[in-house]
Amino acid sequence: MEREIQPGPRRGLLMIHTGDGKGKTTAALGLLFRALGRNFKVIMLQFLKSKKHIYGEHLLAEKLGVEIQPLGDGFSWESKNIETDKSLARECWNTCRNVIESGKYDLVILDELTYPINYGWLPLEDVISVLKKRDSNMHVVITGRNAPQPLMEIADLVSDVHAVKHPLKSGIRAQIGIEM
Ligand code: ATP
Ligand code: MG
Repeated sequence: MEREIQPGPRRGLLMIHTGDGKGKTTAALGLLFRALGRNFKVIMLQFLKSKKHIYGEHLLAEKLGVEIQPLGDGFSWESKNIETDKSLARECWNTCRNVIESGKYDLVILDELTYPINYGWLPLEDVISVLKKRDSNMHVVITGRNAPQPLMEIADLVSDVHAVKHPLKSGIRAQIGIEM
């Protein structure tokens, strides 16, 4: 029999989806779907994705009028000019900071934020300070591999997705509607 969940008082959670398996971003999209069902104001800001590559979530978001914003335009990620990438990463982070500081959202998803932090392009202390000062009702999800320890320490939830099997490892290429 299904257990009935009794909601507690509202408290903004910091949630981290990390690990080497598939499901970090898609789980965040699942939360977005659930939150929309509750008429939450939601936004997903994506660090690695650019407007050049269309994903299924972008197509649906446009139909529904949901904000999913790829921030990754201009990144090379293997750039010879690290300073350019650093300043682009900081511009992207400024967009995220403005969104968080606006206090207008119930759920903010920062997709693949761990990468620019791990590359040393964003100071972790800045990220932590903005997260700590956010509206106490705002839920935040951060996704990406190798979440930094200090970020996991201030989080309320950390899910570590472990890859047991992945079709790419057997040579099966990305599937429309599953990966993109
Ligand atoms: P998804 O967006 O599908 O939920 P993810 O956010 O969990 O994936 P990322 O690390 O962002 O995982 O990976 C992006 C892409 O790499 C996805 O297409 C995903 O299927 C693929 N991928 C994820 N885990 C693995 C793995 N262990 N081996 C190979 N490819 C993977
Ligand atoms: Mg992802």
